[in-house]
Amino acid sequence: MIQKVKGTYDVYGQYGKKLLYVEKLIRMFMEKYNYEYFRTPIFESSSLFHRGVGETTDIVTKETYDFKDRGNRDLTLRPEGTAGIIRSYIENKLYGNNSMPVKAWYYGPMYRYERPQSGRFREFYQFGVEAFGSDDPMMDAEIISIPVNLYKALGLKEIKVNINTLGDDESRKRYREALIEYFKPHLESLCEDCKERFKKNPLRILDCKLDAGTDIMKKAPKTIDYLTDKSKEHFENVKKYLKALNIEYVVNTNLVRGLDYYTHTVFEVEANVKGFGSQNVLCGGGRYDNLVETLDGPRTSGVGFAMGMERLMTAIEYEKIELPVINNVDCFIIPISENEKQLGFEICMNLRSKGFITEIDYNNRNLKNNFKLADKLNSKYIIIIGNDEKISNILTIKNNITKEEYKVELDKLVDFFNENINKN
Ligand code: ATP
Ligand code: MG
Repeated sequence: MIQKVKGTYDVYGQYGKKLLYVEKLIRMFMEKYNYEYFRTPIFESSSLFHRGVGETTDIVTKETYDFKDRGNRDLTLRPEGTAGIIRSYIENKLYGNNSMPVKAWYYGPMYRYERPQSGRFREFYQFGVEAFGSDDPMMDAEIISIPVNLYKALGLKEIKVNINTLGDDESRKRYREALIEYFKPHLESLCEDCKERFKKNPLRILDCKLDAGTDIMKKAPKTIDYLTDKSKEHFENVKKYLKALNIEYVVNTNLVRGLDYYTHTVFEVEANVKGFGSQNVLCGGGRYDNLVETLDGPRTSGVGFAMGMERLMTAIEYEKIELPVINNVDCFIIPISENEKQLGFEICMNLRSKGFITEIDYNNRNLKNNFKLADKLNSKYIIIIGNDEKISNILTIKNNITKEEYKVELDKLVDFFNENINKN
């Protein structure tokens, strides 16, 4: 038997229903917030991610699926969504229209060669948004509000918002120097990866999962102390807007996030699943005012986030949230014999076209097994069609819960269901 590839998973059954519900909610959110749907290719030129995500990030150094196609092109399965969206934004010259920021959202699979474990897959799904063309702190607050409000709407209670700021280029430069000075005498006690990070991008040491929590990390310089006045003001305003939106947050001065190009605000939203550890981070994002330029576009501010769908689904499960998924059919149709099948099929399709969830016996089961199946499908009503019904055009509709029966003329059938079933 061929089995699924390590780090992948299948969706079906109840999980599939719940996932579809969450996806629907996401689409409704994006409509209301007026974000534009983007879909970019799952594979792109490898160089896009090397530059877009950053050469020194774990994602690029260790986690990408790189391959050559038959035309000898260097391609990569996208490990994240931002680089592709920015490529599209630049390539399609969407910066041409200055009247509004471009607010983009995307949803789809991402690929990272990671060690599979709970909450960590090699193919996983992300929902993300990017807003280009506004450096206003109000936009940072809007971006943070989207996951927070989505989680609230889903009923998640135990979520925590962590924010921090890296400041503008000048602040980052000052901070980088402070970090080099600070970590230099402590290099030996850092993990191998961090020694490498020290040379290439010392900021990334703070994002290390191995060294997290050690004294050296806790006492490391804080970005807050190296901010320019302008950067300070930006951060204060982001906080002001979050307060205005009643979004509770914690300033976590060690939060730097995984990408190389963040400027100003960075944030993460955490769930509280026991034993989930760092996999509790449901969503992360921030501002990246240099990234469009880095990918050869005009200087454009940007801010966005990406959320992992698998971890979100786990948090929903963990908090025992009942999502309003549909677990019943409205009507189950049983043609008694071959003779009544066509009529049954027509009725079935007609009810479906009027918005009722309808099933029919496809397999010529006997009545007893059909009743069992109707129960299993939680069918509210059952219609048995025999020769009498076919000749008289009068159907017997059985309420499968109260067991009451109703005689209804064929052309009044839809009226009956309209009166007795709430469509939503
Ligand atoms: P982590 O620190 O957990 O590795 P990250 O910093 O690599 O996360 P991002 O690149 O910011 O994560 O992706 C945003 C979100 O996507 C994460 O917060 C997480 O919910 C989800 N995510 C990232 N990698 C995976 C994965 N391998 N499997 C499932 N979800 C993931
Ligand atoms: Mg990661």
